[in-house]
Amino acid sequence: MAEENMIGKRVLVVAAHPDDGEWYAGGTLAKLARAGAQITLVICTEGEKGSYDPDTNPLALAAQRKQEQQAANDCLRIAQVVYLGHPDGALENSPELRRQLTALYRRHRPELLLAFDPWKRYELHPDHLAAGRAAVEARLAARMPLFDPQTRAQGWIAWTIPELWLFNPEAPNHRVDVSDTFALKLQALRLHASQNVWGDDSVQFLTEQARACGEKIGCARAEEFHRIVIEGAIARSPSVPSA
Ligand SMILES: [Zn+2]
Repeated sequence: MAEENMIGKRVLVVAAHPDDGEWYAGGTLAKLARAGAQITLVICTEGEKGSYDPDTNPLALAAQRKQEQQAANDCLRIAQVVYLGHPDGALENSPELRRQLTALYRRHRPELLLAFDPWKRYELHPDHLAAGRAAVEARLAARMPLFDPQTRAQGWIAWTIPELWLFNPEAPNHRVDVSDTFALKLQALRLHASQNVWGDDSVQFLTEQARACGEKIGCARAEEFHRIVIEGAIARSPSVPSA
C-alpha cells in the first residue's frame, strides 16, 4: 500500500493508551490522513493510571486524557476514536478484548491495520504487548466466519485485513518518510498535557530516532514498522529491497 495515495482507504489503529499512536506512529498517521485515509483509533484502556502523582484521581485523569486525545486527533486528522475501557496497567489479551477487536474489524473493514509489534523483545510495558497480541490474533478471528458469528446479526460479516504495519517493531522492514509531518507528531504529543514527560529529553529522543531511521531511506525523518501483507491464505513479510 503506497502511503502517498490513501484516498478513501480505511485505516484502523489499535493502541493500549492515549498517546501511543502519536509516540510510535504520529508522523505516519498524519501523513496517511493528509493522503486521504479515514483513520479510526482504538484505545484499549483510558490511561487512567498514567500519572506519577499518588493523589491523582483516576477517573478525572481518564476524562482529561480523552480531551487531550481528541485535541491530538484533530491535530493529526484522525477521524474517530473508540475506547474499550480495559484497566490501564492490567490489559490482557483476553477473549473479551479479542471479541471487541474482531467486531470492530468486521464493522470498519480496515484496509490497513497499525498495532504494536507483540514480538518486540525487551518491551517493558505489558499493556503494549497485550494490545499487540490481541490486535494480531483478532485479525484471524475477523476473517473466519465461524469465529464470533453473532456479529452477523449486526450486518458485520467476516473481513480479511490485507495489510498490517506493526509499530515499535522488533524487525523493521518498512519505513515511512515523515519529514513533512514530524513537527505535527511533536505538536500532537504536546497536546497530551497530563503526560508531563514530554520534556526536552523526549523530543530529543524522538527526533534522533526519526533522524537515524530517515538516514536508512535517505530522508530527514522516518518512522519504521514491520509490514505484513496477506494474500489469500498467505501472510508474508516483504523484505527490504537491497540498495
Ligand atoms: Zn502506552
